[in-house]
Amino acid sequence: MNTRTKHRSVPLSSVEIDTSKSYPRRISILGATGSIGESTLDLIGRDPSSYRVVSLTGGHNVTRLAELAVRHHAECAVIADAARYQGLRDALAGTGIEAGAGDEALLDAASRPADWVMAAIVGAAGLKPTLQAVRQGTATALANKECLVSAGAIFMAEVARANTTLLPVDSEHSAALQIMTAVPKERIERLCLTASGGPFRGWSREQMAVAAPEQALNHPNWSMGPKVTIDSATLMNKGLELLEAHHLFSLGPSELDVLTHPQSIVHCLLYLSDGSVLAQMSCPDMRTPIAYSLAWPDRMYAPTERLDLAALGALTFEAPDMERFPALRLAKEVLSAGGSAGTVLNAANEIAVEAFLARRIGFLAIAGLVEATLDGSPDLAMLKPQKVDEVLAIDADARSRARSLLGRFAD
Ligand code: NDP
Repeated sequence: MNTRTKHRSVPLSSVEIDTSKSYPRRISILGATGSIGESTLDLIGRDPSSYRVVSLTGGHNVTRLAELAVRHHAECAVIADAARYQGLRDALAGTGIEAGAGDEALLDAASRPADWVMAAIVGAAGLKPTLQAVRQGTATALANKECLVSAGAIFMAEVARANTTLLPVDSEHSAALQIMTAVPKERIERLCLTASGGPFRGWSREQMAVAAPEQALNHPNWSMGPKVTIDSATLMNKGLELLEAHHLFSLGPSELDVLTHPQSIVHCLLYLSDGSVLAQMSCPDMRTPIAYSLAWPDRMYAPTERLDLAALGALTFEAPDMERFPALRLAKEVLSAGGSAGTVLNAANEIAVEAFLARRIGFLAIAGLVEATLDGSPDLAMLKPQKVDEVLAIDADARSRARSLLGRFAD
């Protein structure tokens, strides 16, 4: 068996959840107050006797976290922002639900015995809590893409070491997993991720230069949190997904591709050695891939719109335009470079998106700032950290460099 085949099998053949013995299943959600967290709780709330909610975490939104914890009878609720601890305690007074706050409490929430955890904290902030759940051996539904982009090699090594089931939640990677399980791995020639093209698919660079955050946040197909919605508008999201796919399925740059598909119905295409192309389709609603990860290896009901191809009439595809959307080109270059380039790309992108949303820089400056940060970081390909803290040090350094460059791009 060659190493590629062996490595590729990690997310596809790890320990199965024995659904016959584990109902109600113990569920934790890291990032419960966000778009993915709420969609997960929507599914769980429709069948409450099948689940027991252990931990729910939020970043800053104490009111919503407390509401969700009470509604779903959670054992504990943790808010990342330590300054909001008293607010959470007050909101949960008399409910019997434990309250926690800060980094250590977040790790404790991820460590509590559970059968399945949804990792849906946005950004590199999700890395340590998600790794904590993986190390516990908890089956991990991975929505957070920054974990793999920033620390993919370390993350996948931890998954293998803990023999944890890792279930990608991104619709494209969920689609890939669903198709790949039906195919001999050595017969895969190419994996193609589809991109909606975002709200600016038909826009010129001149139009994008003056695009406001509200316009970039107005995604045509998907309802998502602000960071991933902006990433979809720049196409950085598709770049991050290429890096994710590289780590999840052990595919190299020449085996990974992107196709723009404005309807967001086909989520992934798998090209095989006999000329077949397999695709997975569904209406664009994250509850479908979340349901796949929640029920895996079984299937469950999800209250999503059913696909009516006759009503749709046509599905269209086009090559992405990397000149108008340079973020995708940058991510492809980072994929080829390897080493710590992904860590720097991700850190600079988080700073750039934050600055765009705060109206400090324009839309085109997002990719500009990321490129300038990468250009100012020599020898990234050679930098191969072995520990999470080393990744976080590179991440912190890249953030500080990106911040120092902000002035050059300020509006
Ligand atoms: P949201 O912004 O909607 O939610 C993010 C969650 O993370 C919230 O619960 C938020 O808490 C919490 N959070 C924010 N900052 C911190 C922090 N520093 N420490 C701990 N928790 C924090 O994001 P989404 O749900 O859209 O996305 C979550 C992840 O999933 C992202 O990595 C995204 O790229 C990925 N993803 C999302 C998809 C989608 O359809 N939404 C699709 C595919 C992937 P609070 O709100 O209380 O501050």
